[in-house]
Amino acid sequence: MSVITRFPPSPTGFMHIGNARTALFNYLYARHTGGKFVVRIEDTDRARHSEEAVQVIFNALEWMGLEFDNEPESQYANRQRHIDIANELLAAGKAYKCYCTPEELTQMRETAKIEGRPVAYDNRWRDRDESEAPEGIDPVIRIKSPIDGETVVDDQVQGNVTVDNKQLDDFIILRSDGVPTYMLAVVVDDHDMGITHVIRGDDHLNNTFRQNIIYDAMGWNKPIYAHCPLIHGTDGSKFSKRHGSISVEDYKDMGFLPEALCNYLLRLGWGHKDEEIIPMDKAIELFDLKGINKAASKFDFKKLENLNAHYIKEADNHRLIDLISPFLKANHDIIISEEGLMRLTVMMDALKDRAKTLIQLADESKFLLVNAPFDFDEGAQKHLTPDAKVILQGVLTAIKELNNFTHEEIEHKCRNIAQVEADGKLGKVMMPVRAALTGTDKSPSLFEAAEVLGQEETIKRLNHAIAYIGSATKH
Ligand code: GLU
Repeated sequence: MSVITRFPPSPTGFMHIGNARTALFNYLYARHTGGKFVVRIEDTDRARHSEEAVQVIFNALEWMGLEFDNEPESQYANRQRHIDIANELLAAGKAYKCYCTPEELTQMRETAKIEGRPVAYDNRWRDRDESEAPEGIDPVIRIKSPIDGETVVDDQVQGNVTVDNKQLDDFIILRSDGVPTYMLAVVVDDHDMGITHVIRGDDHLNNTFRQNIIYDAMGWNKPIYAHCPLIHGTDGSKFSKRHGSISVEDYKDMGFLPEALCNYLLRLGWGHKDEEIIPMDKAIELFDLKGINKAASKFDFKKLENLNAHYIKEADNHRLIDLISPFLKANHDIIISEEGLMRLTVMMDALKDRAKTLIQLADESKFLLVNAPFDFDEGAQKHLTPDAKVILQGVLTAIKELNNFTHEEIEHKCRNIAQVEADGKLGKVMMPVRAALTGTDKSPSLFEAAEVLGQEETIKRLNHAIAYIGSATKH
């Protein structure tokens, strides 16, 4: 059997992290087995439908690198086929028309509540002749659910899950306005698309019992099911808007790399020994349904950040420069100049070693892309004290003398000054120099940074910091 998995999102306007994980699992299982991964947009809610919302899904899939193998289907476009199947079930006596009025249905719900029955509808039209149909009521079509016994779903993650058939009502497959229900549409589409494996959140497990009734009524083969426990927030409750960032776009905007998010989502719900770092090619090699966790997983932002730091370190420097450009523009109004590009290229190995997100990488690259004078942040200001002024003046004089402006020479000079001015403590020299050169108290490889900035710019920055201390102490 050649595997076909599917991703059938409803276009809500954003790609929930849980949906992204579902897409990833379906993608990986298809790639692992040499099968196909197909996409279907469940766009039947026409009142709220928008093409932008559909595009959000495609953008997220593309960003994550989850390529699909079909021309994406539209569930709405398939509606006539759903209607035909409803009529086929009707003709075969597997479904029936129900002419209940809204008042009757309300009455049934109230009675069921009082009697403590899970199912409200009392099957009153199941065996009734159509000749008894009242005037002026457009009927719905209901499927005949089994009345006695049990239904078992053999799930790859949850094992055998059993439900008493008394819990399953004769649910509606075609509404009175002729619109097919979700329950019917999913089954017909999955069947028509040849889906062999349905991997989805366990919030759909209850639907599965009902969907299987349609498969049985049509005599169709059911897919293999794998219902994955949902993702929870760190507080243990379902991961929702209340937890802040819940969509793929949010993580992109926070400066996460797609490979880090994919790796994190994979591990969040699936495992292979204790391996944490599983890049996509390895994930394709290893992914199986057996490894899906049975327990719900908690979203751990720190772990995601650590993986992001790992993948940033691994990433190609030119790619990183491209990726931080929008953050530099949006957060610092910086467009990378030719000189800036040269500086970034030299420093990127050191910069990327420290960054947990692309935003941080952009922030810490900023000093290479601006020219003095610039503002000093709070951390830098702490180091720009009257004591530091003496040190900076010493460094300035020493640096002016250098004929060979290399990081080794700069370091050598700073060490000498540390001996003379700071009891040999190099840190006491480096912190104010860092503040002067970067405007912050954080930077990688300070001496290399100075070399990259060049003698003239370094002198300018030291002068600016010295002047700043002068003016700050006057106040
Ligand atoms: N459209 C459904 C959702 O977004 C998915 C249905 C399914 O996987 O069967 O939750």
